[in-house]
Amino acid sequence: MDYKPYISVVNDFPIEGIRFKDITSLMSDGAIYKKAMDEIAEYAKEKQVDVIVGPEARGFIVGCPVAYTLGLGFVPVRKEGKLPREVIKVDYGLEYGKDVLTMHKDAIKPGQKVLITDDLLATGGTIEATIKLVEELGGIVVGIAFMIELTYLDGRKKLSSYDIFTLTQY
Ligand code: AMP
Repeated sequence: MDYKPYISVVNDFPIEGIRFKDITSLMSDGAIYKKAMDEIAEYAKEKQVDVIVGPEARGFIVGCPVAYTLGLGFVPVRKEGKLPREVIKVDYGLEYGKDVLTMHKDAIKPGQKVLITDDLLATGGTIEATIKLVEELGGIVVGIAFMIELTYLDGRKKLSSYDIFTLTQY
């Protein structure tokens, strides 16, 4: 399935020089969104995932429907100050900017097999930070799934010891 016709490319958003891949046009087509999520759910099934983890906000757009489909739990990774209970934290760099990510301290049990989801793999910084959180709690990252991969940013290299599944590449 070619998902590219459903993804909008917006030049110079949110800052000059970024070619922003907008998945909202894909999401607004129910049949295509379902097909995309079903493909990722199939991958998660193969990997015998116990729980799904996704960074805000677009990691939820992928992770939650897949978790629901498979009857699995979903763990949100959020920016600092958003989660109400005790958290663990990590600093990370973005294609455009820097930030802190947090996860509830009791969100993952040691030995659980984790699938990490996000909309897009750019530099891999967000996912590298998410992996650190998962592994700090003893989770095993068995796979990472994205709708989109920007191959020219080499995010895959940064995540080379992990299995990566992507629906479409630029
Ligand atoms: P990175 O940590 O560099 O892999 O950045 C990935 C995160 O930033 C993802 O959660 C994306 O939602 C967002 N992002 C980075 N670059 C783009 C882009 N060109 N188009 C759309 N989203 C992007």
